[in-house]
This record gives sequence, C-alpha cells and structure tokens, in this order.
Amino acid sequence: MRTGFHYRDGQLFADELPVASIVERVGTPLYIYSAGALREGHERLARAFAALDPLLCFAVKANANLAVLRLLADRGAGFDVVSGGELARALRAGAAPDRIVFAGVGKRDDEIAAALEAGILCFNVESVSELERIEALATARSVRARLALRVNPEVDPRTHAHIATGTRGAKFGLSRAAIARAAERCRASEALELVGLHAHIGSQIFEPAPYLDALERLLALWDALRADGHPLRLLNLGGGFGVRYGEGPPLDLEALARGYAERIGQRALRLVLEPGRSIAARAGLLVGRVLHVKRSGGRRVVVTDTGMHHLIRPALYGAYHTVWPVRADSPPESAGSAALEPADVVGPICESADVLARERPLPPLARGDLLACFEAGAYAATMASTYNGHPLPPELLVDGERLRCVRRRQRLEDLLALECDDEIALQPGPSAAAAAQARS
Ligand SMILES: *Cc1c(COP(=O)(O)O)cnc(C)c1O
Repeated sequence: MRTGFHYRDGQLFADELPVASIVERVGTPLYIYSAGALREGHERLARAFAALDPLLCFAVKANANLAVLRLLADRGAGFDVVSGGELARALRAGAAPDRIVFAGVGKRDDEIAAALEAGILCFNVESVSELERIEALATARSVRARLALRVNPEVDPRTHAHIATGTRGAKFGLSRAAIARAAERCRASEALELVGLHAHIGSQIFEPAPYLDALERLLALWDALRADGHPLRLLNLGGGFGVRYGEGPPLDLEALARGYAERIGQRALRLVLEPGRSIAARAGLLVGRVLHVKRSGGRRVVVTDTGMHHLIRPALYGAYHTVWPVRADSPPESAGSAALEPADVVGPICESADVLARERPLPPLARGDLLACFEAGAYAATMASTYNGHPLPPELLVDGERLRCVRRRQRLEDLLALECDDEIALQPGPSAAAAAQARS
C-alpha cells in the first residue's frame, strides 16, 4: 500500500483513494491530509534523532486539526503551543499535559493561567516581564511553574527574513543580560522552577551549521547556570527543519543529530525538539478547480477557486509550492517539457499577491480541471482566512482506503453567525469621567 500523494494510471491518489473521487463527493476547494504520510513524517524524525531519545513536540501552529493532533498524540508526540487556543486544542486532542511546552512572546494572563492549571511540562519564557506574570499567577494558585528560558542565540539561520527568529534584535527570546536577571529571579522565587533552556532560531533551515552554532552557545550558558546551582534538565532546541518545496537537497537530519550528540556529550539532560513543517508539510494537499483561463500581457493566467486565502505562503514569503493537475499523464517530476507552457496560477482574491504559482510550466488547462497544490499540510489551513467573504474549505483525512471529514466546510451562515447589533452600556467610571472632562 502506498501512502501520501502519488500519481497512478494518469491520476493523483491520496494513499489508496483517487483525489478526483474525493472531490466528486466533497467539492472544491479542500484540504486532504494523509495519515500515512503524517506517521512517516513523525517516524523519520524519531529515527534520525533516536540516539538522543528526544521528546518531539509537534508545533501546533503548523497544523492544528484535532484529528492530526490526535494521530500524533497516539504515537507519543508532545506539542509546542503558542497560545491558549492551541493549548486547548492539544488538550482536547488527548495530549498529555506533561508533554506540552508553551512558547510565544505575547502570553496573556488568562493563557498563562490555563497552562498552569493544566500542569504543562514548561513555559518557554521570552521576557522578564512575562516571567513576573508567571510568578504572580503561579503564586496565586500555590503552584510551581516550570520554566525554560528562550535564549536568543544571535545566529543567522540563512532563511527568509520573515521566518528567522534567533538573530540579534529579533522580537523572540531573551538577551544575555535578561537571562542572568531571569535566572536570579527564579532562584529567589518559590513559584518558579528553572528547568531548562530553549532556542528556536527560525524555519526552513537546510544546514546543520546554524543549529550547531546555537547549540554551542546554549551549552556554554547551560554549563554556567548548572555551575551556579540551577537544576537544568530540559534542553529544547526548537524546530525549523527545512522541507524542500520543489528541488534541492534536504536538511541532513542524521548529520544534525550526530552534531548534537557530539556537542551534548555526557551531559545529563532531556532533549526536546519542536518540529512542525518537517512532520506535516508533505502530508497535505490543497485542491482547487480551474474557473477561468485567460491571457494577460501575453501570459497565460489560470484562475482557480483557491488561492492566498487557503495557502498564503507564496504571497507572504514568495514560497514555491508544486502545482499540478489532478489528472495528468505523468507526475510533475517526469513530465516532458514539450507539452508544457508557462502559466500564472492565481486565486479569486482581489489582491495582486494572490498568486499560487508564477510562470510555472504546466500542461494545457481548461475550466473545470482540478489542480493540486502540494506540501500544503503545514502552514496552510492554520493560516487560512475568510478574506473576500470565502468560507473556509473542509479538511479530509485519508488513511489507506478510509476517508474521514475532520473539519466540515464552513457555510455562509457560519460566516455571519457572530455578527450582531448589541448595544453596550459602559459603566460611568474614571475613564468615562476623564473623557468627559477632556471634552469640556
Ligand atoms: C514555529 C515554531 C516551531 C516550528 O517550526 P517548523 O519550521 O514548523 O518546524 C517550533 N518552535 C517554535 C517556538 C516555533 O515558533
């Protein structure tokens, strides 16, 4: 049995099911996830890092569907969440709280409180101000918060500027000086337990070098804090493992794992990794239908019913995604170029950025044809919007020959459901009085 997305007999399959048959039942646009490909994605990372026996915390922001999270939780995955909403999802999916880590520069009090009450493995702390809020909220609940300090290692991961997070001046993580202050604060506090260090230097990283640079900086800090009496035990090196959308050598995970093992040496610690894209990207497909084909300035423009509102990566990062017809004589990698002609594949959104593929060699296309956009299992549905009044597509999960709908198509009524015309009477209080005074 084949898993994932592949061409057979002139058409695209998701595991054992023809994509065209799924579309016939469900319509377009839609996302399809392959359970087999998700399992393989998780397995590949677990295998590559096996000698280090890490806790793999899937980054929920890559794909937050409950069925996807459940599948990974069942395989022992932990989760990396960046909001109270993602925390609630992970818990709903059956995640063990002691396998959840909580990162993010802007944690609100209610989100911190929810994580304390759930008893998560640790907060990845990004500022001294946040540390003070965690301390106050933990004290009020008479609990002890476990913390890892998110270090800004100031390394250049050589990736797109929008997804580099560990460079000097980045909004993420703590500076050197702030780390010393945060560690002292933990030592002095009954409510805070400093258990580890964390770094996540960015996403779509293809060389081990920036990771190893970051690790060396973390280990120097680790040793200094341990020597100072802090009982560190968790070393969280984040995610960001590059996925090729199209061509190029992948990140050598085995080489990275060896580099980690050499540097960590005999230190007693639990390694935590936070892969998102590298588990889920290839396990998802976005399918749209050609609405119109036209010419513009000598270019072939293929207008589909999906676009940047369902997959924003090309518009946001100039990202490349493989786009290919669902019915095709040959798969994209082995198509003879003779029959291909460049096309811009665009969506219906009233934005010039709404282009999924630019000047892409594609076979002839006509109204009604189905187009598949590959590598849409990560940062696709989670970043989707209803901009221009389009309801969100459904999400389907294929497992071998079985097909399940794991998120229904949004309906127009859903889009309107929260709108209201409720009058809100404010209590006359200090701020109202001050405004009145300012007016007079
Ligand atoms: C986004 C993010 C990740 C996952 O990044 P991928 O590129 O999807 O692996 C991991 N950790 C943190 C803190 C993140 O913000």
